[in-house]
Amino acid sequence: MDQLIYINGQWTGASLDKIPVHNPATSQIIGTVPKAGKKETRDAIDAAHSAFTSWSRLTAYERSEYLEKYYHLIIDNVNEIASILTLEMGKPLAEAKGEVRYAASFIKWFAEEGKRVYGRTIPSHVDGKEMLVLKAPVGVVAAITPWNFPAAMITRKMGPALAAGCTIVLKPAKQTPLTAIMLVKLAEQAGIPKGVVNLVTGNAAEIGGEFLSNPKVRKVTFTGSTEIGKELMIQAAQHVKNLSLELGGHAPILILDDADVDKAVKSVIASKFRNGGQTCICGNRVYVQEGIYIQFLEKLINETQQLKVGNGMDEGVDIGPLIDKNGFLKVDEHVHNATRLGAKCWVGGRRIEVQEDAYYYAPTVLSDVTQEMLIMNEETFGPVLPIQKVSTVEEAIAYANLTPYGLAAYVFTESHSLGMKVIHQLDFGIIGWNDGLPSAAQAPFGGMKESGLGREGGIEGLEAFLETKYVSIGL
Ligand code: NAP
Repeated sequence: MDQLIYINGQWTGASLDKIPVHNPATSQIIGTVPKAGKKETRDAIDAAHSAFTSWSRLTAYERSEYLEKYYHLIIDNVNEIASILTLEMGKPLAEAKGEVRYAASFIKWFAEEGKRVYGRTIPSHVDGKEMLVLKAPVGVVAAITPWNFPAAMITRKMGPALAAGCTIVLKPAKQTPLTAIMLVKLAEQAGIPKGVVNLVTGNAAEIGGEFLSNPKVRKVTFTGSTEIGKELMIQAAQHVKNLSLELGGHAPILILDDADVDKAVKSVIASKFRNGGQTCICGNRVYVQEGIYIQFLEKLINETQQLKVGNGMDEGVDIGPLIDKNGFLKVDEHVHNATRLGAKCWVGGRRIEVQEDAYYYAPTVLSDVTQEMLIMNEETFGPVLPIQKVSTVEEAIAYANLTPYGLAAYVFTESHSLGMKVIHQLDFGIIGWNDGLPSAAQAPFGGMKESGLGREGGIEGLEAFLETKYVSIGL
């Protein structure tokens, strides 16, 4: 699968150097993409800039029709997109199909929501004045996405941007460009006019540098690590570029004494082991109140032992490989640091050697962890559940908030009044209360503190691609 980049309705870049794409399950090369740089990025931005006038002047209903068509094409091709996704990213095929349907839901929801971009009139404080608030698309958007959700991170940006009337240049992660390319081919098939959607692959720093320095780009939307997010923020300052940042997390899970243990265990397994723990909102650390601790731990260990690790293309696999060696090294470091400092490993705690360059990691449960361990302070991005016993609800909340991150948090309690108190005290952008899978196209997704700026999904996700124009009319 040697693929090309997409600029102004043309598949191009055949003469550029190539970047290999690997299957993390086997380490085999499954395709290549062009190594684009500054020039190609500038061409893509120019194309998006030229297309902006006509696309933004279409009615919201016309743009919605394109997006509806696009949505149906994604749904008709779920199996093919999911196979590509599993091959380049590693997650189990059934999970990949789920991701593609989730990705499509952003196109569908924003196709509808784009028709509801309302302005308003404001009562004037003096006679003879009319005061209007208008909404306008922000302009050319540049989108940078990570590898862990190769389909959904593209559509979560593209859906609202196109619905708002913006045009876009996409830059997918180097590990997973093939899913993004397939999605752009379907956008082309849906008849979305040339220049409205463009895609470049290649040197991230050069492409990102051009996105942030080119005045034709009015908005940069980024999903990825906090480290790179901070770099982009510094670059964005030069032109005061409109920036959305969906960054790293370090989600706490609070299991309180009156939790329904079976529900909590099921949700914790779903939250942590989905995508092998390579999810920004997955639970990264668990605080369990002492009254329920033993019961919870026993059931959790038992359920974790049932999980099957293997190639995501194989039937019945729950957890695929880690994305690459760096991913593995971080997970391994967190586990070893914890056990060295006194944590007890009940299950897992080791790499499963299938072959030299593929990195499978056994689902792991650690107990007796303490706050000074690395794993309680950093995003692990792997299938490891560290459990810490706490005495009181207040102690659990204090630990939960003891982090510079603020993306997602989870609490398990059957008490309505206690749950309400806890959710108000957690400093996180997304909270799952007795729910391990809170994401949905119609809901705002994003973090507080160093987990980012802005929200994707929901009406907030559309607002991110709109400017507000206030007009004062003297009558
Ligand atoms: P990453 O290393 O920050 O990469 C993300 C994207 O940024 C990739 O496309 C990468 O390109 C690009 N990039 C790297 N260096 C760049 C530079 N100097 N200028 C411009 N772009 C640059 O993150 P990752 O490892 O792919 O993704 C995992 C991280 O994403 C985790 O921290 C996770 O929590 C976070 N995440 C957050 C959310 C959310 O919604 N908050 C969702 C998913 C993931 P190359 O791949 O070509 O290097």
